[in-house]
Amino acid sequence: MANKQAHIVMVPLPAQGHAKPLLKLAYKVASHGIKVTFVDTGSLHKKPVVTKPHKLHQQHTNVGFVSVSVGLEVFGDQSKEETKMAKRAQAENVMDAIKNMKDYSEISCVVADATMGWILSEVAEMLSIQTVSFFPLSIGSSALVCHIEKLTEAGTIDTNGNMVKSDEVISLSADIPPWKATEISWIDPRNAETQKSYFEMSKVFQKAAESVDLIVCNSSLEFEPAACDLIPGCLTVGPLIERDDVLRASGAAGSFWLEDTSCLDWLDTKPPGSVIYVAFGSAANLYQHEFDELALGLESSGRPFLWVVRSDITSGAPPEYPVGFLERVADLGKIVEWAPQENVLAHPSVACFLTHCGWNSSMESISRGVPLLCWPSFSDQFHNASYISDIWKVGLKLNKDESGIISRHEINIRIELLLSDDSLKINAANLKKKAQESVLPGGSSFKNFEKFINFLRY
Ligand code: UDP
Repeated sequence: MANKQAHIVMVPLPAQGHAKPLLKLAYKVASHGIKVTFVDTGSLHKKPVVTKPHKLHQQHTNVGFVSVSVGLEVFGDQSKEETKMAKRAQAENVMDAIKNMKDYSEISCVVADATMGWILSEVAEMLSIQTVSFFPLSIGSSALVCHIEKLTEAGTIDTNGNMVKSDEVISLSADIPPWKATEISWIDPRNAETQKSYFEMSKVFQKAAESVDLIVCNSSLEFEPAACDLIPGCLTVGPLIERDDVLRASGAAGSFWLEDTSCLDWLDTKPPGSVIYVAFGSAANLYQHEFDELALGLESSGRPFLWVVRSDITSGAPPEYPVGFLERVADLGKIVEWAPQENVLAHPSVACFLTHCGWNSSMESISRGVPLLCWPSFSDQFHNASYISDIWKVGLKLNKDESGIISRHEINIRIELLLSDDSLKINAANLKKKAQESVLPGGSSFKNFEKFINFLRY
C-alpha cells in the first residue's frame, strides 16, 4: 500500500450539517495526495446536493463524486430481516457505483458518518478493508450517544430513549454540562416518529464507534478536554473550517441550497461590528408565533440584521411576517433564503450570531470570533448552547418566558447585553485563537490529522 496511491471512500449522512464537514475533510485528505471518492447520498429534503468543487482545490485534489441514493428507509418500520437486507442492498449499490467509475482503483478504507455506521460494517465485510467513523457532533454529544447501552442497562433511559426519572439529569463528567431529559440529542418531544428514527440512528452511531478501526471528530481537544477523555483514541481534527483564501475565491463547498451572495455586498455597506446575523441551519423550525417574536425583536433592536429565512422555517409552511414588518425594516434588515454562512461570519460587519447552535454553525462562529446568542430547539443544540454560554462563555442563551416563548423583549435585551459585554468578546477572541492554533503545525488537531493521514496511507 505504501507505494500505491491510497484510495478511500467517504459516505456522508444525506443532511446538510453532516455532508458539509465530511466534504471539507475529503478535500483536506485529498490535498495530501490521497484519492477520495465522495458518495453523494442525496438530500433528506429531496434536493440535489450542491457539492460545488472549489476552484482553488480543484487543480490539486483527487476528489471524485458518485451519486447513490442511500435512503434512510433503513430506519423505518421494517422487520429486522428487511432492515438487514435493505442495508446490504444499499451498501452493494454504493460499492457498484464506485467500481463503475472510469478511474476505479482498489479501495483501502471507508470513512462514513457515524449515523451511517451500517455502511461501514457491510462494506468492511464485503471488502475486508479499514473503517473510520466520522463524528460530526461535539465530543460531548458523541460521548452521550456512545453511552446509550450503559444508560439503558443502568435504567436511566427506557427502550425509547426517554429518561426514566424525567426530573433528573444525565452527567458524564463534572466538567461537561449535564443533560436534562428534554435536552438529550435523540429526544423530539414534538414528534414520536422522528424520535424513534433519531434513537435508531444514535444506536447505529454507538455500534459503529465500537467496531471501527478509527474515529475522527470535528472538534478540538482545546474545546472539550474533559469530553475527549470519554472517547479514548478518538482523533479530534477540527474545527473543519473553510480557509480564508478558498472562501474569498469560491465560498465554502457542500451547500445543499444555492447561496444568496447579495448579502455580502449588503454587509459591505454596514459599519464594522454592527450587524446581527440570524440563521437556524438547515432543519430547525419555529412556530409562527416564535417567528413573529423574532421579527419584532430584531426590529425593536434598531440594529442592522441579516436574517436567513428558509421557506420551510415555520414548520414547513411558508413564513408570514408581522403586518407592515417588511416595509418598516426595509432600511434595517436584509432577508435571504440561504446565506454563504462562512463568508458572512468572516465579514467584519458582523457583530454577533443568533443561532440554533448546530455544531457546524457553532464551530464556524467560534472560529471567526463571533459571539453567539443561543436559541436551541432539538438534537445536540441544547448541549452546544451550554458549552457556548456556560463553559466557553462566548455567548448568551435566550430564555423562554412563563408562557414558554422567547419574547421580542428577551431578544432585544439579550442583544444589548451581548453587545455591551466586553468579557464575552474577549473570550470569543481567545477561543478563536485556540481554534486557529489547533489546526496549525504543532496544534493538537494538526497532529491528529497527520496521524489520520498516516493511517490512510499505510
Ligand atoms: N448554512 C449555510 N447557509 C445558511 C445556513 C446554514 O451555508 O444560510 C450552513 C452552515 O454554514 C453550516 C450548515 O449549514 O455548515 C448547518 O449545519 P449545523 O450543524 O449548524 O446545523 P444543521 O443544519 O445540521 O441543523
